[in-house]
Amino acid sequence: MNKPNQKGRAFAPVLFLISLVIFGILAYKYADRWLRAVLLYLSKAGWAQETISHISVAHQFADRFIAGDTIAEAIAVSQTMNQKGITTTLNYLGEHVTNPQEALAARNEIARLMDAIHESGIQAYVSVKPSQLGLQVSPDLLYEHMRALLEHGRSNQIKIRMDMEDHTTTDTTLGIYRRLRDEDGFGHNVGVVIQAYLYRSEADIRQLVAEGAWVRLCKGAYAEPPEIAFPQKADTDNNYIHLAQMMLSEQAQQNGMFPAFATHDERMIQAIQTYAAENDIAPQSFEFQMLYGIRQALQKKLVADGYQMRVYVPYGTAWYPYFVRRLAERPANLWFFTSNLVKG
Ligand SMILES: Cc1cc2nc3c(=O)[nH]c(=O)nc-3n(C[C@H](O)[C@H](O)[C@H](O)COP(=O)(O)OP(=O)(O)OC[C@H]3O[C@@H](n4cnc5c(N)ncnc54)[C@H](O)[C@@H]3O)c2cc1C
Repeated sequence: MNKPNQKGRAFAPVLFLISLVIFGILAYKYADRWLRAVLLYLSKAGWAQETISHISVAHQFADRFIAGDTIAEAIAVSQTMNQKGITTTLNYLGEHVTNPQEALAARNEIARLMDAIHESGIQAYVSVKPSQLGLQVSPDLLYEHMRALLEHGRSNQIKIRMDMEDHTTTDTTLGIYRRLRDEDGFGHNVGVVIQAYLYRSEADIRQLVAEGAWVRLCKGAYAEPPEIAFPQKADTDNNYIHLAQMMLSEQAQQNGMFPAFATHDERMIQAIQTYAAENDIAPQSFEFQMLYGIRQALQKKLVADGYQMRVYVPYGTAWYPYFVRRLAERPANLWFFTSNLVKG
């Protein structure tokens, strides 16, 4: 009668070991994905923002990705970049604004930033987050602020690119972008971003190519469900190359599309360079873009090789969500950050 129990007891350590090995394999295989999901959750969690943004080591570490708190610091970074042959796009940090006063304050700050770009004579334009200018208050408010800012920059030819946020904002952002571009006649003074991880992006790029739009292609930085976006990074990467080729097609060029390829991924960059060389597309017909503080040596090399390079330079005090998204993109940043945190 005791036999089955004894057998069970003998198997228990084996089962435990097998589970441990399976858990180890899964953790190794999926650690990056889990970490990314947790970090993307933390990037939006109010309680985490409250805690982490008050830790001085966090602020110091975030400085690696941020030009400073003020317009003057963002302009100074741009001047240094321009001297190295790199243009910039400046971004006043802020997102998920839920009241009209904050959206108006952001608009006023961005208008001051545009004036400073003009006065300093730097080679730069502006990138804005739709939710910073009131998208969550109402799409009309975002439209009004975007129109006012584009009007403000019109005489000085300062362009504005609307960054793309999570998939719930894609249709509204594209709709407002097209209204500003076509009905209000801002043309290539207003631009938009498409994310390669979204299934819908091929159709969006096809339409934007037909319209000769001013588009930045990126992989996508938000937590999206598998019904909406490729869960596997390899699929996003393949789609990125496919969409980049569509943006470099003869039709795209004939329609006046000037593509911006935002990536730090050398595989993406090489694929674009090879496609351009094979199809006689001059390096002046497109630009590469990277984020401030990431892969500076590669930025320098691309400039030396004759490519156009633009760096996205964020500034301001609302650095927390931007910073945590950068941690999510590269878990190695997290280990570096936490070890510094422990050291104090
Ligand atoms: C100019 C610019 C504008 C962007 N605008 C948007 C936008 O509007 N909407 C949006 O959803 N996303 C935006 N992104 C973010 C983008 O979607 C990706 O999340 C981010 O660029 C990482 O993807 P990757 O193409 O660099 O490739 P990955 O495969 O993620 O990275 C390739 C390599 O680049 C390096 N790298 C990448 N990220 C980091 C990092 N954070 N720290 C250190 N090294 C890193 C690493 O060496 C990594 O192995 C933007 C990115 C850039 C460069």
